[in-house]
Amino acid sequence: MSETELQTPVFEFTGKRLCLDFANTVNNRIGNPRELLNSYDDLLTWSQEAQILIEQEVEALRERARQHPGAAAEVLTRAVAVREAIYAIFATRAHEVTPASSDVDKLNTELTRANTQMCLVPEQDGFTWNWADKEQALDAMLWPVVRSAADVLTSEELQDVRVCASDDCGWVFLDTSKNHSRRWCDMKGCGNRAKARKQYSQKKQAS
Ligand SMILES: [Zn+2]
Repeated sequence: MSETELQTPVFEFTGKRLCLDFANTVNNRIGNPRELLNSYDDLLTWSQEAQILIEQEVEALRERARQHPGAAAEVLTRAVAVREAIYAIFATRAHEVTPASSDVDKLNTELTRANTQMCLVPEQDGFTWNWADKEQALDAMLWPVVRSAADVLTSEELQDVRVCASDDCGWVFLDTSKNHSRRWCDMKGCGNRAKARKQYSQKKQAS
């Protein structure tokens, strides 16, 4: 997406996987990049909208960040760094290029941290994975994000991760279309603009 005029970040979730939506927290990646995660609070807002933290957890972390602003700022720096690594890995893979080992290292470092927080929770019919100390750890939102990246990278879905065909967007998404032909991050935004441009140039050529 390329709405640059908005001041409050408006997050969009068109990537179809959590890690891809996280990678898309920069608008106009190729044209004129605009950072959407400018504060730890933005990161919390995104996490709630992405449904990886509930309101109660967000409130607890917001309070913790107020008490430990330095630590919250460090988490934001780590979040942006691992997001860029995730983006670079998927974007290079989409172009069938081997990702830089420094990016894979960054993701692995965060994965190691996330793995120490994984725990099993008994349910009626079995067990599910969950995360320990979600309300205590300022970096709790990074755990499901890096786990999601690892899951996609080690699955057949990786073949269907694409970069938006728009000139300036650069967003990544999982192509879940039946004939594997989705080209834009979303049809309403980039898809429509591309269609409008095509119609405009066809009209111009015709006249
Ligand atoms: Zn796009």
